[in-house]
Amino acid sequence: MACYFTGHWLLAAEDWQLGIGMIETDILIIGGGSGGFGAAIRAARADPEARILLLDSMSQLGGTSTVGGVNNWEPGIGGPGVHYELAARLSPNAIGVGRTVHFSSKEEPYGFSRIDPDSSYESSLRRAGLPKPEARRVHFEPDAMAEAMRTMLREAGVEIRLRTRFTDVSVQGRRIVSITAQPLDGGPPETVRSKLFIDCSGGCHLARAAECGMAFGEEPHELYQEPSAPDSASPIVNGISQVFRVTPAAEAGADELPAAARAPEIQDWVATHRPAAHVTEYPNGDLCVNVLPTMEGAEFHSMPYPEAQAIAQARMHAHWRRMQTDYGFERYRFKSMFPLVGIRESHRLVGRYVLREQDVRAGLLRQARREEIIALADHPLDTHGERNVRGVKLKELEQPYGIPYSCLLPKEYDNLIAASRGASFSHIAASSCRLSRTMMALGEAAGAASALALRDGAVYADVDVAEIRGRLGIPAFEEKALSVWGMRS
Ligand SMILES: Cc1cc2nc3c(=O)[nH]c(=O)nc-3n(C[C@H](O)[C@H](O)[C@H](O)COP(=O)(O)OP(=O)(O)OC[C@H]3O[C@@H](n4cnc5c(N)ncnc54)[C@H](O)[C@@H]3O)c2cc1C
Repeated sequence: MACYFTGHWLLAAEDWQLGIGMIETDILIIGGGSGGFGAAIRAARADPEARILLLDSMSQLGGTSTVGGVNNWEPGIGGPGVHYELAARLSPNAIGVGRTVHFSSKEEPYGFSRIDPDSSYESSLRRAGLPKPEARRVHFEPDAMAEAMRTMLREAGVEIRLRTRFTDVSVQGRRIVSITAQPLDGGPPETVRSKLFIDCSGGCHLARAAECGMAFGEEPHELYQEPSAPDSASPIVNGISQVFRVTPAAEAGADELPAAARAPEIQDWVATHRPAAHVTEYPNGDLCVNVLPTMEGAEFHSMPYPEAQAIAQARMHAHWRRMQTDYGFERYRFKSMFPLVGIRESHRLVGRYVLREQDVRAGLLRQARREEIIALADHPLDTHGERNVRGVKLKELEQPYGIPYSCLLPKEYDNLIAASRGASFSHIAASSCRLSRTMMALGEAAGAASALALRDGAVYADVDVAEIRGRLGIPAFEEKALSVWGMRS
């Protein structure tokens, strides 16, 4: 059979190309978003000999943050990780630090973050305890980000296959044995065998297919005793957003509405919902528009993806027209919809430990499993759209908290680890820790753990967490955080 790989290690190692449609690797990563990028770069740099393959169904790396158009790293503690290097590679032309110049109000429901040349990257690394006007975020050009990720992974020796979808899994006892990879541009499916598997697919598709315990929607209070959880479970998940891009125009005016956006139900939706938009400036002066939300999460997940995306896009054309005519954006014109719908939440793993509201609120010093923390976060609990949870809307945290390693580990398998927004978090905790830089940090932890597991022939649960923490620089980073937030151990 034709080998689709082009990388040096694939061509050199014929012994592990087992036959027609069969490939063997050491570490297989499903999903090349923030989590998948973090996992791949950290694993490859820790173990340059390891055969690492990353699959993603989209045409670019970066997932939600590039193909989904979420070109914004919200203010957040970020961790000691590889985001610094990405930012440096994009600097100065494809990245900027943004400052809010317009806060959303009832009359003008949009926030506007413009690039502020006087704000440093470091100033974007804090959210908890900061007055809103002082918060800074990072805006980047999605294509440049995707390209920087690809360059870094290639330099590190990671084999990347885009437009390739994971479709099936084969397991034996407590081990994942192989998966099926389907090239989306034609060609037969291939079986990929691997020693280790990292699920970075956002909604934990690999763990789901392998029948790991999963959660979807709001948990009832009785499950984790979360103070804000509702009395009963519900299928409500964080709302989705179809992000789009607009560009400056010489003349004031408004875009013509596509037919789908003129439909009465779409017009009604815009008139009755009047959702707020988060508008961020690209380095070239275009604007990214993220309407919060475009559709309820439960509604989105109840429909086939193409149907839900078509409705979301029609709503966004209609909403944009309103922004042009009513909110002062008449000197911008529609440029493009992003191909990937922005999904904030779907299925989540129920792993060895489930991060919960109490951990988020307790903070670094008082939360459970402090000795296992492999990533830090300080974004508020942040749900968009309908909710039964009580009073968690954007309540700022006073200090950062950490995500324990056990949140990445499924109960059912020894050679599978999850590092994306679908890792083991409750619905409420996920609303806080889902930010891109946090997901990248989770990925880095999974990558470091994978290199150690390969070195020692260990299962993920037996990898020394202190060594992962040391390799990631977490202890020193925690000390820094404790001093910034004035906390004492
Ligand atoms: C609308 C919206 C706005 C947001 N705003 C912000 C913000 O302002 N700042 C911030 O920091 N965070 C924000 N977030 C959160 C953040 O962007 C995401 O939580 C984060 O990017 C998720 O990263 P991930 O790696 O977990 O998943 P993703 O980036 O979604 O990556 C998952 C990848 O897996 C791939 N994949 C899925 N299934 C398969 C399969 N079967 N086979 C192969 N590949 C597959 C997908 O193509 C995708 O590339 C926002 C999220 C949304 C949706």
